[in-house]
Amino acid sequence: MSNSQKSECGCLCGAIRFEIDRDAVVSANHCHCSDCQKSTGSAFATIVLVPIDAFRMEAGETRSYSVTGSSGQSVTRSFCPDCGSPLWSEVEVFPGFRFVKAGAFDDASWIEPASSYWGDSAQPWAPPAEGLPVHAQNPT
Ligand SMILES: [Zn+2]
Ligand SMILES: [Zn+2]
Repeated sequence: MSNSQKSECGCLCGAIRFEIDRDAVVSANHCHCSDCQKSTGSAFATIVLVPIDAFRMEAGETRSYSVTGSSGQSVTRSFCPDCGSPLWSEVEVFPGFRFVKAGAFDDASWIEPASSYWGDSAQPWAPPAEGLPVHAQNPT
């Protein structure tokens, strides 16, 4: 029996549903890199770092798109094939984890971003959040 808190997640149309063990969440951060801007259609992504074993698919099948990240290794972004909602990324340099988009959580109010990545490419009209540490690019 587990008492761990679960968070329900999904896409806009509801075809994709998954659940996350909230107690296993490592951190949350904002990312202002240009790829996150393109893939979210916005100024930055808020990404929640979750170990894959704390992640359980419930419904639907995502599609994904891979690019070569700044590290030279792949970043694979998964999304709903029906409604296009961006859902999570897997990063080759960081195996065993998924970076889940905060917007995928049915209740995202508990998420506490710790820092901002890629302050170098933040838009002037959406600067990194005040009061949080800013990394110029990815944290090292
Ligand atoms: Zn959908
Ligand atoms: Zn990014």
